[in-house]
Amino acid sequence: MALGDYLHVLLDLFYPRYCLHCNCSLGNSHECYICEDCKKEISHVSDTRCIRCGISIGPYISSDAKEGCIVCKGKPLYFDTVTPIVRYGSVIKTLVHKFKYAKQRFLARILNDIIIEHKRIKESISDIDIIVPVPLHWIKRLHRGFNQSELLSLGIQRHFLKPIVRNNLYRIRNTEAQTLLSKTQRQINIRNAFSVRRPEIFRGKRILLVDDVLTTGATASECSKKLKESGAESVHIVVLATAEYNS
Ligand SMILES: [Zn+2]
Ligand SMILES: [Zn+2]
Repeated sequence: MALGDYLHVLLDLFYPRYCLHCNCSLGNSHECYICEDCKKEISHVSDTRCIRCGISIGPYISSDAKEGCIVCKGKPLYFDTVTPIVRYGSVIKTLVHKFKYAKQRFLARILNDIIIEHKRIKESISDIDIIVPVPLHWIKRLHRGFNQSELLSLGIQRHFLKPIVRNNLYRIRNTEAQTLLSKTQRQINIRNAFSVRRPEIFRGKRILLVDDVLTTGATASECSKKLKESGAESVHIVVLATAEYNS
């Protein structure tokens, strides 16, 4: 056994590890947070998505990065592409909830790994100038102790060595939680919730906007609007998980 393995066994004696989702014992597994079975349940979203708006379009309908799909074609969108990484299934939901609401900050690492391993991110990151996390209102951030989108952005920054711009796009209103609102209510709730301190920082830049969960896309769209108004050349959204997203 290597030294690392001995340490693992020793740590397990004092801190037995359980899967954060199903609670089974992780025993000798090298996985630190979730068991192999739960890990398998984390499914990547299919490639049959519209690159422009991000919705699932099925394998037989084509979509073009510029034109979009039958749903978004001709529709003015503030962002240029949407890349959701995984489906917001039960396992990822547990991880995201523990990360955000139970403030288990260490989970950022496992969630980051899921993002940086994604094929489309690897392929398109060279076309990005800066990374911008979707901001939290300072009161919420103070309460949580961190901004989850910022931690995910830092993971992308560290891996791909791209600059990150924090606090330039910021939230001016502490909006009501979006979870229980309808799509229209969300759009109204989030309207004018963001502002930009120094637009020149975003001018002419190709921006990767990072968020944790995409539901209606209202937040991502409102942020993109501000970035485009600041003169951003393009805004590409990457979200860790997507629920029933409908542009
Ligand atoms: Zn499990
Ligand atoms: Zn589309």
